[in-house]
Amino acid sequence: METNLLEFIKEKMKPIQESFALWQNPQHIFITTHHKPDGDAIGSMMALAHYFIKKGHTVYPVSPSEIPDFLGWIPGIEMVMNFEAEPKLVEKALANSSVVFCLDFNDLSRVKSMENLLIQATQPKILIDHHMYPKPSFEYGISDAGKSSTCEMVYDFINLAGDNQLIDATIGTCLYTGTMTDTGSFRFPSCTASVHEMIGDLMRKGLKHSVIHDEIYDSWSEGRMRFLGYVLNEKMEIFPDLGSGLITISQQDLEKHNVQTGDTEGLVNHPLSIAGIQFATLIIERRDGIKMSFRSKGDFDVNSFARNHFNGGGHFNASGGQSSQSFTETILCFKKILSEFHPQIKK
Ligand code: 5GP
Ligand code: MN
Repeated sequence: METNLLEFIKEKMKPIQESFALWQNPQHIFITTHHKPDGDAIGSMMALAHYFIKKGHTVYPVSPSEIPDFLGWIPGIEMVMNFEAEPKLVEKALANSSVVFCLDFNDLSRVKSMENLLIQATQPKILIDHHMYPKPSFEYGISDAGKSSTCEMVYDFINLAGDNQLIDATIGTCLYTGTMTDTGSFRFPSCTASVHEMIGDLMRKGLKHSVIHDEIYDSWSEGRMRFLGYVLNEKMEIFPDLGSGLITISQQDLEKHNVQTGDTEGLVNHPLSIAGIQFATLIIERRDGIKMSFRSKGDFDVNSFARNHFNGGGHFNASGGQSSQSFTETILCFKKILSEFHPQIKK
């Protein structure tokens, strides 16, 4: 996208401080995030929900789809409405709300079946997000692709409102979860000094960080662990000459191994742990279509790759996309593109 157009979109969106006037008195606040929410999506939504409750507001946290089991322990998760399961309840909550917060996505199509509801909403929409290329659908907001996570941005937002003293261990737990998952446990280049400063502040407010690592990384079912073994043995192809790895999982694989929502989380990263691999791809044949995940190390831009070839987007080093071709055709098409991109991946 051209820089001018980007600047135009950012200019059209008013600074988030100007939205503060909208919630000076107790309001009903609708907060939502993207379809198939991850740690940053749920962590940021729940941190903001707990903050607004402390400020005396009524909140409606809404997920467009089911919450994966590995996030089922997040404080306050029982408040979250699932649009796919209870669309009427969510419509009512939206009708009751005076403002809509959109977290960890910047394109209304990312809420899938809830998109029309948000398009038709007349309430001001406020964006807090760190993906590239925001769409012009938000009246107020912060869009900063340099930030590690939306959770870090919610922390900044609360500080900007002058409310650092309201951040407690519960809000800290939510913020830590999304920052940890989006930075690969604080190892990606996006994990800046300000992230570590935030964690220091959260720890002084009572955060128990190792409990969160246990909940997220050491709470697998035996089935999930064995499925990982199967995938790494049978479903991962490594192309050392192309600096690339590819994992492909069919609908049959998902059914045969009784794979649950969230069980495929993180699979795409495994090829990057092999020396010399800079680009990893996961292609999954889901019931609702072919979903692709792209991850890279260094200066190979998977956001452009996903955008140009697979109708997707995301971040420079982590993006997603989809394909309308069959599973087998998608794999063939991907491999053809991969061989053309070879010089850019393996510099
Ligand atoms: P994942 O591979 O974990 O699904 O997604 C990686 C990153 O890319 C996430 O930040 C996610 O929000 C974004 N992403 C995933 N799929 C899509 C897509 O189809 N379109 C866009 N614009 N972003 C995506
Ligand atoms: Mn995120």
